[in-house]
Amino acid sequence: MDLKARLNDVRETILKAEKDAGRPAGSVTLVAVSKTFDADAIRPAIEAGQRVFGENRVQEASSKWPELTAETDGIELRLIGPLQSNKAAEAVALFDVIESVDREKIARAIATEMQKQGKRLRLYVQVNTGLEPQKAGIAPDDTPAFLKLCREELGLTIEGLMCIPPAAENPGPHFALLSMLAAENGVEKLSMGMSGDYETAVAFGATSVRVGSAIFGSR
Ligand SMILES: *Cc1c(COP(=O)(O)O)cnc(C)c1O
Repeated sequence: MDLKARLNDVRETILKAEKDAGRPAGSVTLVAVSKTFDADAIRPAIEAGQRVFGENRVQEASSKWPELTAETDGIELRLIGPLQSNKAAEAVALFDVIESVDREKIARAIATEMQKQGKRLRLYVQVNTGLEPQKAGIAPDDTPAFLKLCREELGLTIEGLMCIPPAAENPGPHFALLSMLAAENGVEKLSMGMSGDYETAVAFGATSVRVGSAIFGSR
């Protein structure tokens, strides 16, 4: 199967999952995760109408996306990987959405840069639902206080919550936890689900899914 066929498969799977969950068609945004793939590998996805892309490294994204966004209108770029404060300026300039707001220091750096650049990004707080020590994200119990800090002290609008469940676990309970945290804290959107579990994520209320290898092939 080529990229267009794989992309169509993913789109159809999402449509079916929306239908099965009794959700309106088109209620889930597909974020195509293009990390490790170069501009030439990404172009066929853009030609097939894909407009929302995710990258996990600022440096890598800066090396390929400026030429791609110059070629096509309406591309939306999302940072889904950890951000270092010394890359905040570059990230704010390049991305439309940052899904990996995961600590106070980076929330402050993003707030400062948005002000400086006069640019408002859409932001997601990453929650470490599995409390994994090697994984980024705010602990579920700390999420209400962190959201309060972002909103009240830093003046940020938090559009959604994002999580990456532990690889070896059933993702359902993690998706349910993220959904509950969002509802309890007045957060609208849920970024959850990757190639292996995006159908499950749609059933649990994902408003966007981040799908890489099922579209671009293995990395
Ligand atoms: C790489 C990555 C994805 C996509 O993973 P696939 O299994 O290839 O679909 C999704 N989310 C994050 C945060 C990633 O780093």
